[in-house]
Amino acid sequence: MKSFRPKKKLGQHFLQDKNIASKIVDLAELTENEEVWEIGPGKGILTESLVLQKGRLTCFEIDNDLSSKLIGKFGTSIDLINQDILKIDWAKYLRDKQVKLVANLPYQITSPFLFKVTEFSGSFSRIVIMIQKEVADRITAQPGTKDYGKLTLKMQFNFRIKYGFTVKPHLFYPVPKVDSAVVILTPRPDKPHLEDEALFWKVVGFAFQNRRKMLRRNLRMLLCKEKLQELGSISRIELTRRGETLTEKDFIELYEDILSLRNN
Ligand code: SAM
Repeated sequence: MKSFRPKKKLGQHFLQDKNIASKIVDLAELTENEEVWEIGPGKGILTESLVLQKGRLTCFEIDNDLSSKLIGKFGTSIDLINQDILKIDWAKYLRDKQVKLVANLPYQITSPFLFKVTEFSGSFSRIVIMIQKEVADRITAQPGTKDYGKLTLKMQFNFRIKYGFTVKPHLFYPVPKVDSAVVILTPRPDKPHLEDEALFWKVVGFAFQNRRKMLRRNLRMLLCKEKLQELGSISRIELTRRGETLTEKDFIELYEDILSLRNN
């Protein structure tokens, strides 16, 4: 593949270190006959380890040049879908299956991709992904820290998230500007079931609208003056707090109190 020129707009930073590749694949804890998805196989450094695992491997690669090279290299031992992972019909491909997902994700699709996996969190038994370290820090953050925000809550609402390890830029070609990190996501057995999840995410969204402001101020965009006053008197959460200090449990209490006002 000497003549291949990496395409920046597709986030093509190819991992060069085979030990890191097998470490990533090991974290997926694959067993025989499992359904495995790889997103963006690129030149196939993770794919090489994945095909040895005897799972049923489906690879999604947007780049036509790489796709034909991958078919040449792996033949029928992989199912190659030469499409944009963000544009395929996930429900159609996943059906009722339980899938393990492994990827060194292109940076530019990280946020929409994470959003998509939360939508289908029940279909993935384990997700091992390499992403920008900065995003890994955000999705594993604790309340009261600068990295804690709506993305943290959204991801931790759906998954248990474990920080695997950091990968330095010199281990890729072309060399990226930032550190990467491998994280492991498993579905949360105790995922909260909320009567009006859309309202919950609205509350969270508004609470983080302006990080420096108190809840009382940020929730003005959600509630009229009278309702906000009423909330102040019934809420289990002090409205003088800032969104970034609230745990998931706190947010659920705040949402429940807002819901009870709405239902009255
Ligand atoms: N897995 C390889 C590795 O570790 O060296 C390549 C990783 S590289 C960071 C990201 C790969 O994702 C590239 O092969 C790129 O062409 C592919 N890609 C980029 N955007 C994509 C998309 N929307 N859908 C599917 N593949 C995509």
